[in-house]
Amino acid sequence: MLVDGYGREVDYLRVSVTERCNFRCQYCMPEKPFSWVPKENLLSYEDLFKFIKVAIDEGVKKVRITGGEPLLREGLENFVRMIAEYKDDIDLALTTNAYLLPKAAQKLADAGLKRINVSLDSLIPEVAQKIAQKDVLATVLKGIQAADDAGLKIKVNCVPMQGVNDSELCDILDYCKERNYPVRFIEFMENDHALSGAKGYTSIQIQNIIKAKYKFEKLERTGSSPSQDYKTEDGYVFGIIEPHKDDFCATCNRIRLTASGVLIPCLYFEDSQSIKEAIQNNQIDKAAAILKDVLANKPEKNKWSEDTETSARAFYETGG
Ligand code: SAM
Ligand code: SF4
Repeated sequence: MLVDGYGREVDYLRVSVTERCNFRCQYCMPEKPFSWVPKENLLSYEDLFKFIKVAIDEGVKKVRITGGEPLLREGLENFVRMIAEYKDDIDLALTTNAYLLPKAAQKLADAGLKRINVSLDSLIPEVAQKIAQKDVLATVLKGIQAADDAGLKIKVNCVPMQGVNDSELCDILDYCKERNYPVRFIEFMENDHALSGAKGYTSIQIQNIIKAKYKFEKLERTGSSPSQDYKTEDGYVFGIIEPHKDDFCATCNRIRLTASGVLIPCLYFEDSQSIKEAIQNNQIDKAAAILKDVLANKPEKNKWSEDTETSARAFYETGG
């Protein structure tokens, strides 16, 4: 079992396979970054998998593949298969913008993927285009349908932004409710890479928007899910991810690996260590020792509880 310096069990590894993306979301990567990590600096799937095995052997039970846009990296289904075949009870999931799912969904399901989180910020083509800076909606909706048809369990992520998609939160909730997909509204996390002036909503504000249409009750928090869940009168459960709240970090069970092999203990925390050299030299004990060292250094709290702060880390680099 992996435990951090504050006694929290860490059993969830998020692995970014690329920082590149085919969208330019206002809140994440509004412009193409000045420079990408050169492809030759990325860890190969084999090397990422070597580290994932170390983490699983040490007690990780849940692995999420993310990015950038993970489906941009060729052969992702082979990577999924490696992980799924290593331990069949591993909780393996993928976070994607869904744009490439129409072709990829069935291959991913065949490779052993069970669950997928898709980002869906608008159901109006022009608004989706404004957010992603590309005409994406029709393909995204096809991608979500393809994932559903392939038998993948679907959750939806939505980042409410002031003056952008705020009039649509109930419509997005309805879309998800009709299909029985849990939706999670994520408070915008201020970061230096987002569009300047971009503003999100607090959990209370999101709740007030949804209250215009639905009555709902707050559910007791269970486990280490980052989402505070709410249940509508007719039984649909949706969530709000509230990183600005003081107690958000109390049950954090996550650690993140970037595509270039940097292990990050917290989304907001500048310290990190690379496992690249250890993994590439097959020094498995050393990689396990770095993992434990990084966890010992995991901070108690992130910075978003002080709500004027922003993070220098890019979400497309850490995987969100
Ligand atoms: N490209 C994939 C996608 O968009 O689902 C995976 C990577 S993306 C960085 C992972 C998650 O981070 C998405 O759900 C996205 O909405 C969320 N995200 C990105 N920037 C954010 C921000 N500034 N505040 C809150 N959530 C953010
Ligand atoms: Fe790309 Fe996802 Fe960031 Fe949007 S949120 S720019 S889809 S990595």
